[in-house]
Amino acid sequence: PAPFLDVRDLRVHFPTEDGLVKSVDGVSFTLEKGRTLGIVGESGSGKSVTSLALLGLHKGTRARVSGEIWLEGRELVALPEAQMRELRGRTVSMIFQDPLSALHPFFTVGSQIAEAYRVHHKVSKKEAKDRAVEMLKRVGIPQPERRVRDYPHQFSGGMRQRAMIAMSLVCDPALLIADEPTTALDVTVQAQILDLIRDLQEEFGSAVVIITHDLGVVSDVADDILVMYGGRRIEYGTTREVLKQPEHPYTWGLLQSMPHLTGDVGERLNPIPGTPPSLINLPDGCSFHPRCAYKGWAPEGRCTVERPELRLVSGTGGHLAACHLTDEAKQEIRGGTGPDD
Ligand code: SF4
Ligand code: MG
Repeated sequence: PAPFLDVRDLRVHFPTEDGLVKSVDGVSFTLEKGRTLGIVGESGSGKSVTSLALLGLHKGTRARVSGEIWLEGRELVALPEAQMRELRGRTVSMIFQDPLSALHPFFTVGSQIAEAYRVHHKVSKKEAKDRAVEMLKRVGIPQPERRVRDYPHQFSGGMRQRAMIAMSLVCDPALLIADEPTTALDVTVQAQILDLIRDLQEEFGSAVVIITHDLGVVSDVADDILVMYGGRRIEYGTTREVLKQPEHPYTWGLLQSMPHLTGDVGERLNPIPGTPPSLINLPDGCSFHPRCAYKGWAPEGRCTVERPELRLVSGTGGHLAACHLTDEAKQEIRGGTGPDD
């Protein structure tokens, strides 16, 4: 059977005065219902643009999109906007980064959730309001019958995030996308929100895509991890494989900047030195080479000249990485000055 979600060679390019911005350039992945994919990368890696393409939000913009997005047997890249609108919110739904921009300040939280439901269901206002109360309850908002009449500003940051999750789930979407669902929240609330997404996923059986710059956020909740850099895939595998034996130096860098792996709370993290590449002119060879501390370990000069293909990591069923380092070199790095140090 075909995968529930099958993204094939997705490209999203934006023409600008300075040149063609290749935000997403040949990304493929699959996802089944009941499973969670974490798409990880710095800002400008193409992770958010990938998620917007899943929602068809590029339609009617100047973006040039190619490739295929198959969702439950339907191809979304070529789907007309009118049909996409039918799916948006109902079949595929998004939890946005910032609840304040998604919730209108002048309307009650309850009326907004009810409205999101009525867009796709022919029900009375009363039935939609009951549904809103039920959803607020399910996302753990106390006294939902009372809170349903509150305005967004009367909710705390964490509660607003919950309300937005309620709004995203009100139509029971088969695919839920969460773009940095936790960045604006403190650590305790972050953990609660991630737990909530996981519980709701079990309850609703939906497929979830979590977009984040923080590998730590997805290490507990994702089944698979896709690491993006410069609009491309650089590592892809099950979370267990990627965390147990990360293969790409960029992933090593992401791991080293994860707070709870460094042990001491408050210890300074090691952000990856350098800046993300220009999406108009990617560096030749490996697009990560200007920032890579290990390019000297790869066979003579290849990193600056030849772009590494995504290859199957030996001894695995599907773990992929794009790096010129040999297995021997990686072993040596891991044993010495590598990421396990
Ligand atoms: Fe570093 Fe070379 Fe691997 Fe790129 S291909 S990550 S530059 S070692
Ligand atoms: Mg983003």
